[in-house]
Amino acid sequence: TGSSRALWERSARIFPQGVSGQAKYFAPYPVFVESASGATITDVDGRTYVDLLMGAGPLLLGHSHPAVVEAVRDQAGRMFNPMMPNKGSIDFAERLQAHMPHLERLRFVNTGSEATRSAVRVARAVTGRTKIAKFEGNYHGSDDLFLISTHTRTPAGTPERPEGVLDYAGMSPRLLDETIVLPYNDIENTVARLNEHGHELAAVIMEPVSFSSGGGIPATREFAAAVRAATEAHGIVMIFDEVLCALRLGLAGAPAYLGVTPDLVTIGKAVGGGMPLAAFGGRADLMEAALGADAGPRKIFQSGTFTENPISIAAGAAALTVLETEDGLARADGAGGRLRAGLDEVLTRHGVPHVVTGMGSIVQIHTGVNEVRNRRDTLAGNAALTAEIMLGCTAEGVLWPPVHPAVTSTEHTDTHVDAVLDAVDSVLTRVLPQFSF
Ligand code: PMP
Repeated sequence: TGSSRALWERSARIFPQGVSGQAKYFAPYPVFVESASGATITDVDGRTYVDLLMGAGPLLLGHSHPAVVEAVRDQAGRMFNPMMPNKGSIDFAERLQAHMPHLERLRFVNTGSEATRSAVRVARAVTGRTKIAKFEGNYHGSDDLFLISTHTRTPAGTPERPEGVLDYAGMSPRLLDETIVLPYNDIENTVARLNEHGHELAAVIMEPVSFSSGGGIPATREFAAAVRAATEAHGIVMIFDEVLCALRLGLAGAPAYLGVTPDLVTIGKAVGGGMPLAAFGGRADLMEAALGADAGPRKIFQSGTFTENPISIAAGAAALTVLETEDGLARADGAGGRLRAGLDEVLTRHGVPHVVTGMGSIVQIHTGVNEVRNRRDTLAGNAALTAEIMLGCTAEGVLWPPVHPAVTSTEHTDTHVDAVLDAVDSVLTRVLPQFSF
């Protein structure tokens, strides 16, 4: 039959781990989507779910927003040849720049992983150094360089690897010598390590909101400012990886939100309105030095067959128009705020020690802790219960796989939020007897 279970079994015979590497985050098997609209997904078995994953971030306007669907249809009918220059990409880049003036120069790419990799290449080219520093628990995409110490833990509770040790097989062991891992939101230790290694670092890359697998923890303004000061002192290129929080932190991005302007930023996910699109950019002198016509020996390699494809550009432009002309962001943020407050109330009512983190349309829970500055803090709490709550929501009609914080969209209404809170209430009633504090 065409049920999710049957499709799951079939998929496992052709794809390792079934449909995707994320399958373990869905219980008892992944939901196969028949259709999706606004804040909800309907699966092939006819069940409807409130979606809190939203494509892992891109669907800030919800599923199949009419304005985005129309733009995609229109562009596909006229031209969808990537690689050839297209006026739409200039128009869109200028509009992004108008919101984010720190994007003095930018380049579009397809994915966040390409954007972060390219930003690091720029930093290496302009500094002549190779090492980079990243923060524990920060995720920057699938490139080897960044996978060190992302601290993604499966619901089953894979043992943590010590700091700086590769989490995955198949990666170049040399990366251990090229990447320094720093403690997020810990000014003292971060600044000390930057002072020690500053002379050899090309870049410090950080997530303005630490998202990786259940993070959802914003950087403090003081922390961002301290990293900025240390990077300036040592001539290190500072990169904000805004792939996930771009547009969600406000159209002006993390520099406005945190009051700190890095040298380069990466943006992605919601930027393409749900289609593959990301970008990296920032200071004109750095971007020109590494990508400009006169780059010479500093020129970095940056290319891709599908880069800057017009359909993604059209979708992104249509989505941006909605955010500019409606109170879309306020709606998404409102749903996020209501969800944070509600989760706080439900967890308190059930007597679960917890912290709810996030901001705007980004929401995450951490149980068994009273304070959360970074991923290490959250893993020191009851990470198993947190994962159990998120995973358990599936059976209650809410998709919140424990791979990602919850994100709301412009289409999440009070009714959706209430459904999530009811789901979490039911899950807690069911699973709490198995946990003690
Ligand atoms: N950086 C951040 C902060 C991200 O959240 C992600 C994706 N979760 C990436 C980079 C990688 O983006 P992509 O999956 O599009 O390659």
